[in-house]
Amino acid sequence: MRNDLVAALDIGGTKIAGALVDGGGRLLLRARRSTPAQEDAETVMAAVDAVLGELTGSLPWTRVTAVGIGSAGPVDASAGTVSPVNVPGWRDFPLVPRVARSVGGLPVTLVGDGVAMAAAEHWQGAARGCRNALCLVVSTGVGGGLVLDGRVHAGPTGNAGHIGHISVDLDGEPCPCGGRGCVERTASGPSIARRALANGWRPGPDGDTSAAAVAAAAHRGDPVAVASFERAAQALAAGIAATAALVEIETAVVGGGVSRAGEVLFAPLRRHLREYATLSFVRDTTVVPALTGTDAGLVGAAAAARLGGRGTAEAVVGGRPS
Ligand SMILES: [Zn+2]
Repeated sequence: MRNDLVAALDIGGTKIAGALVDGGGRLLLRARRSTPAQEDAETVMAAVDAVLGELTGSLPWTRVTAVGIGSAGPVDASAGTVSPVNVPGWRDFPLVPRVARSVGGLPVTLVGDGVAMAAAEHWQGAARGCRNALCLVVSTGVGGGLVLDGRVHAGPTGNAGHIGHISVDLDGEPCPCGGRGCVERTASGPSIARRALANGWRPGPDGDTSAAAVAAAAHRGDPVAVASFERAAQALAAGIAATAALVEIETAVVGGGVSRAGEVLFAPLRRHLREYATLSFVRDTTVVPALTGTDAGLVGAAAAARLGGRGTAEAVVGGRPS
């Protein structure tokens, strides 16, 4: 088979991953580097080029027709630039033209990581077959992306659906984004851990104070740990309910590391959603775990490449894997 692959890049604050992806969403070849996040712009780009070099130097590269990039945000897809919060050396960095140069002028499509996750879940995961969905990434931060009318809706700059920075607490804590009371300030992994510690939860002998450790304590019934997840779930539910009222989603797909907490997050999330989503057209909104896991960024970048490369979002991103 020829011309059946796309290259995918997933660029985050800790790692830069790449893969060649076939029409069924299978990852054929992977490459990976740590992100030198505190270094200057060219050092970070050199890590991207190292990942790309492994891909372009591989035998199947001749079958690649397009490149998709999912990047930590904010991104500006219309300008082809990225300014990831956790990579200070990259501000309005011209990632798309730089990658295009490294891949011999193949078409390059850029989306934010939340949109990439939505594209992945719509193509291969829990939002498959959904006409309207919000997909959330709850991790170090909180991000998201939208599927509207059967298509991934990236918005003009590739950031649409960024639920982490809508306010659910009018007089709440200032957020690094410049806003106040953002969903992320209550529901991110570090927020869950910080709140548990502030309210008296203490880690075990291993000293692990991550959200995963708080989740383990919550599963054992620790009331402070349970309460911290309860509060995170409340913020997420308010954001999901607002999204449902705005654009009438059928389902909210929740992924990211914090979602691995399972029912200590999902049970209060469903309960609070029933409190906030009360009108007839939002009350049936469901909440389900994401299915694409740690490869969501790569699968989503591949979906974006197919979308951007051919301009037929519905036919490809919304299609069923062959
Ligand atoms: Zn914010």
